[in-house]
Amino acid sequence: MATLAPSLGRIFAERRRSLRLTQARVAGLIGTSQGAVSGFENGNPHALADGKVRELARVLELDLDSLGSETPTGAAGALSFCANGLCPTNDPYLVAGGLKLKPTFAVDPGPFCGCCGEPRAKECQNPMCGAPLREGLCCYRCGQAYVEAPDPARLVPDPLERELEVRRALNRELRGTS
Ligand SMILES: [Zn+2]
Ligand SMILES: [Zn+2]
Repeated sequence: MATLAPSLGRIFAERRRSLRLTQARVAGLIGTSQGAVSGFENGNPHALADGKVRELARVLELDLDSLGSETPTGAAGALSFCANGLCPTNDPYLVAGGLKLKPTFAVDPGPFCGCCGEPRAKECQNPMCGAPLREGLCCYRCGQAYVEAPDPARLVPDPLERELEVRRALNRELRGTS
């Protein structure tokens, strides 16, 4: 269970006032009662469910993670990773079966990878599976590697080279289809 700093409510309250929104208005926007918002703002972190806190943060355009609160874990989609096999956030591992990539899991860093800009995956990428994420190389349910390892020929160590390689591949694709 996440524990939210008591001062979080105050930050939310100040932000809400600066946006000239009433408690009742934001409560309506996130589908809760004005009393719950009031309780949360007054230092009771449990007045709002974790999901509602996130929604409220979104309404107020507050970045919860930068506020130093602990993000709820255990909820579906709490962990995410970048599924781009060429993204440097994924660590290459050489194992018996060849090259594997170990995704770098993070708790709710946002919908897109801060490194390569690809949408971050919140569940197993196997469309038949979709299991929630657990630390490791592969899905615990279906065994599929979380990140599809790229063609070794396209693996180059230097990040800039890698970036260029991605663009070249993209250009080749564009030329191929036009
Ligand atoms: Zn990425
Ligand atoms: Zn799976």
